[in-house]
Amino acid sequence: MLPIGHSLVGLIIYDIFNQKQKWSKNMSYIFMYIFLANLPDGDFIPVILGFDYLNVFHRGLTHTLLFSMIIAALLGAGIKLKDKTSFFDSFPVFFLLIYSHVIIDIFNIDTRPPSGVMALYPLTDQYFHIPLLPPVSHSNLQALLSIANLKTAIFELSLFFPFLLIIFLRQRKNRQS
Ligand SMILES: [Zn+2]
Repeated sequence: MLPIGHSLVGLIIYDIFNQKQKWSKNMSYIFMYIFLANLPDGDFIPVILGFDYLNVFHRGLTHTLLFSMIIAALLGAGIKLKDKTSFFDSFPVFFLLIYSHVIIDIFNIDTRPPSGVMALYPLTDQYFHIPLLPPVSHSNLQALLSIANLKTAIFELSLFFPFLLIIFLRQRKNRQS
C-alpha cells in the first residue's frame, strides 16, 4: 500500500482513540499518527535516495511483529517519562498504528518473491500474503511516481476515505449534541 492508504488508516485510528478532540487543536498528534502508520516503509528511504539495490530489504524486518512491539514499547516508555502517561495506555495505540501497516501490506499484490510480509516474526518467519489490493511499483523512485501507482493511490483514497469521513462527521455531531 502507498503512504496515502497507510496515512488514512492512521487518521482512522486517531479518530477512534481521540473522539472528543478537535482536529485543529491536535495537529502535532495527528502528524505523529500518520508518521507511525507509515514508519515500516522507512526501509524504502535508501531507495528514494538512489540506492535502488537496497530495495531487496524493503518489507523486511520493519514489517514484522517484532519491530512493531519494540518501537511501540520504546515510544510508550519515552512518553511515560515525558508526560507521565501510563505505558499501558499509550503502548497499544502505538502498536496498533505500526502493526496496522504490517497487516495491510499482507493484502498487497506482491509479485517480487518472497511475496508478502513476515507478519508474525519472530514467532514464525513465514511470509503472509493474501493478494487483494492493487500492487505498488517500488523498484526505484521513478516506479514509485508512475501512473500505475497513481491509479493505486486513487483506489486507496476511495477505499478508506469514506470510513474516515463517516467517523469524522459522527464525532462532530456528537460534540454538537
Ligand atoms: Zn509497507
